[in-house]
Amino acid sequence: SAKDNGRDNYQYFTPSMNASMLERLQLEQHLRSAVLHQEFCLHYQPIVSMETGQITSVEALIRWNDPEYGWVSPEKFIPIAENNGLIEPIGEWVLEQALKDLSHWHAKGIKLDMAINVSSRQCINVSGVRFDTLLADAIKRHGIAAERLHIEITESMLLDDSPHCLEVLNSIRQLGVTIHMDDFGTGFSSLSYLRKFPISVIKIDKSFVDNALVNEADASLVRAIVMMGKSLDLQLVAEGIETRAQWILLKSMGCDFGQGYLLSRPLPAKSLTPILAQGETFIRQLLA
Ligand code: C2E
Ligand code: MG
Ligand code: MG
Ligand code: MG
Repeated sequence: SAKDNGRDNYQYFTPSMNASMLERLQLEQHLRSAVLHQEFCLHYQPIVSMETGQITSVEALIRWNDPEYGWVSPEKFIPIAENNGLIEPIGEWVLEQALKDLSHWHAKGIKLDMAINVSSRQCINVSGVRFDTLLADAIKRHGIAAERLHIEITESMLLDDSPHCLEVLNSIRQLGVTIHMDDFGTGFSSLSYLRKFPISVIKIDKSFVDNALVNEADASLVRAIVMMGKSLDLQLVAEGIETRAQWILLKSMGCDFGQGYLLSRPLPAKSLTPILAQGETFIRQLLA
């Protein structure tokens, strides 16, 4: 459509543009083609109860294998997709694939929740159907209990200050889906949003998890985050746990869940199935 040929396209290329702008434009073209040809897949990373050692949920993480570039990190292409609107079709694809995989796990008798990352533009969806509507429809079609689904958002979304944002999030929560605050502590630090928005879980950013072991000041910060979370009746996930020392420390601080390479890297659904089927024995062996 004419809208798709907007200001992000080649037609505005001038020789004065530098190499990085050209690179970005090329990446955008590849990304458009990736959407058309469905070059994405999802990997899933376990989130583990620190109390029981059970994998209670998995986080869906998008992967893109471009024919020319190979694997491109979501850290690189998601911001571009947010900027040019491709996040909307990409996000719809993620939702569809994630619920398909979750319903397969449920059909195998594996009890599991799933967390899906959603960015602000996708939530408000300027050009299509609002995300809460998409979500309600997808949940129904896939026959998934809403309580099994978690939506991860970042602090920056709440800064957008769109009147729609609160409305969409409230509507998602109304469905029974919970909202999880991702990368907590890295964004804008007004804490009032924890009460204003319907948030159930805080994911403590990896940088805090790393630093808590390095110095006492950062350890105190994490302790304070946990205490604040608890007093607001929120649950806490520690992100990016890579060592046993980090697991032990964050557990002792009162975190409810852990996620990170120590427990498992993000994996394709097929590789994860046997691990999920093992229940808590997998983590018990790992931490023994
Ligand atoms: P995130 O949501 O904070 O996801 C966690 C990131 O940390 C993932 O990177 C994961 O692979 C990585 N990670 C997990 N454990 C460890 C660890 O122990 N050590 C280290 N070094 N890293 C760890 P990934 O998959 O590259 O994703 C990066 C970001 O891209 C995500 O951060 C999220 O913001 C975004 N993203 C990924 N998939 C999607 C998606 O489907 N939709 C949207 N909107 N954003 C997505
Ligand atoms: Mg996330
Ligand atoms: Mg995160
Ligand atoms: Mg992160």
